[in-house]
Amino acid sequence: MRLILLGAPGAGKGTQAQHLKDTAKSSLIVMGDILREAIAKKTPIGLEAEKYVHKGALVPDKVVIEIATSRIDAKDCLENGFILDGFPRTCEQAQALDKKLLAQKKKLDRVIYYSISDEIAMERICGRLTCTKCKAIYHIVSSPPKKTGICDTCGSELGHRKDDSPEVIRERLKNYHHETEPLLQYYKKQNILLEIDAKCSEDVILKDTLKKLNLA
Ligand code: ADP
Repeated sequence: MRLILLGAPGAGKGTQAQHLKDTAKSSLIVMGDILREAIAKKTPIGLEAEKYVHKGALVPDKVVIEIATSRIDAKDCLENGFILDGFPRTCEQAQALDKKLLAQKKKLDRVIYYSISDEIAMERICGRLTCTKCKAIYHIVSSPPKKTGICDTCGSELGHRKDDSPEVIRERLKNYHHETEPLLQYYKKQNILLEIDAKCSEDVILKDTLKKLNLA
């Protein structure tokens, strides 16, 4: 399957993507993780991206389009399809993706839009903990790890993302409304948009997603 997950920061795209990738048997592409890894390794892309990510701004289209389109050309994505989390985030990115898929003679199956209010998004992100190694996601209140500060899955340390401070989250939400929300219309017109209420629990959202994708 070729899927896009859309939604505000904190809508739960990352959590659902982890669940979905095995059922859909597709490769997972998480733009935020790719950028954070490049930043940690101080690669040329990482050094460029860092200036934007830490203040909650979008990394320039040219940079992320190059990352996403070359990833989509990789053998695993061509054979198994993909789940895109965090790309596209602007109309220019969506058009570049369409162009790439046209060249590959492939089509997007669905775009899943996880809808949520800014208040809930803020609450979720402020309490979010991420595994520094396997990227599993926890929440201090709604889904805490069994052992404080330690990942249930791989035993590594959990951490707060640098850009998960209230000030930076506000900026990310603002950019989401300005730059990414117009994509809902873009995909609605293509007749591939599915909307899912993302204020429920993780399990309920997953069930709804699988049902709407006819995977349940
Ligand atoms: P969230 O969805 O919670 O905001 P992500 O991990 O997806 O977080 O992204 C973190 C940051 O990485 C964004 O705030 C932005 O700076 C950068 N980023 C990720 N994806 C893109 C993209 N498609 N275009 C531009 N910048 C991006």
